[in-house]
Amino acid sequence: MSAILTPALPIAITRTSASRLHEVDFDHIEFGKVFSDHMFVVHFRDGAWQTPAIVPYGDLSLSPATSALHYGQAIFEGMKAHRQHDGRIVLFRPLDNLLRLNLSAERMCMPALPEELFMEGLKALVRLDERWVPSAAGTSLYIRPFMFSTDGFVGVRPSNDYTFIIFTSPVNAYYSQPLRVRFEHHYVRAAEGGTGFAKAAGNYGGAMEPTRRAQAEGYHQLLWLDAAEHRYIEESGTMNACFVIGDTLVTPAVSSSILDGVTRRSVLALARQWGVAVEERRVSAAELVEALETGTLREAFGCGTAATIAPIAVIGDGHGRDYELPAWSADSLGVRLGRTLDAIKAGTEPDVFGWLEAV
Ligand SMILES: *Cc1c(COP(=O)(O)O)cnc(C)c1O
Repeated sequence: MSAILTPALPIAITRTSASRLHEVDFDHIEFGKVFSDHMFVVHFRDGAWQTPAIVPYGDLSLSPATSALHYGQAIFEGMKAHRQHDGRIVLFRPLDNLLRLNLSAERMCMPALPEELFMEGLKALVRLDERWVPSAAGTSLYIRPFMFSTDGFVGVRPSNDYTFIIFTSPVNAYYSQPLRVRFEHHYVRAAEGGTGFAKAAGNYGGAMEPTRRAQAEGYHQLLWLDAAEHRYIEESGTMNACFVIGDTLVTPAVSSSILDGVTRRSVLALARQWGVAVEERRVSAAELVEALETGTLREAFGCGTAATIAPIAVIGDGHGRDYELPAWSADSLGVRLGRTLDAIKAGTEPDVFGWLEAV
């Protein structure tokens, strides 16, 4: 083990003696199945974050009584590093992910992660596994930071100890086939005052059975409705929902039950810069159905880190009726937004918003 000094933070680094890099066929990577050589790990104990380490990616050893497995103090983030055309590696809005991680931590009664620990750990890890960042157009290194409670104690109370880990995974250019989604009238993802705005593990477990049912009916994802009235659109899968109604980009306003996506935020900033009218407000399923029937709904898409922009081709009303959206053309707003975001990340468009952070 060799302790290296990053600018401000000592990280104990143990390099793998058997890199798996040569085993990877970068042209045929399935999302989420290939993991880079190392991971960043830091434990919270005795009320403080301990010395961080980078170690070979590998299994964890946990007590069966590990609190997170029983009571769900478990949160995560999803972000990407991109290799630019000149070979440099950049992170996209990493501080936004840290701020959201700490919002999730606060809601789940978990300790906040100091900015320096997160940023230095993240950069040191990506630098060490630099050769795992693919370079083909549209490819990237997916980054998964997460934290969970580790007390081996079978009583319901906040854990004293926590583990924070970052691992990474090279991913191919994401091709999203146009999505078929439908409104969900019975199940809800998150309620006002609940944990929907947090990337808390349980939110995703709770969405699986309703989503599986929709998939058995031939849809890819649900369009969740609000828990109180089952009238207003929340979001879709792990993506925020955007609609082009007439010439206006309309998206549900974020709330305690909607995840405040970094992609959503970036899409809205770009659209506003281009002079597109943007409305963040409640959008009812009835409004959308009417817009579908009168032909004013021109585009619908999901936005999130994995896909950037995922076009929606079909919206089911949840009562058996499917509406088809017009096919996209090269100048659809969703296409232009996706193309511009990709170009900013690749360094072929100027980063006028200051979204990129060099590794
Ligand atoms: C992660 C996530 C999003 C998208 O957030 P990004 O920061 O854009 O990746 C949207 N909705 C849910 C429920 C999510 O978990």
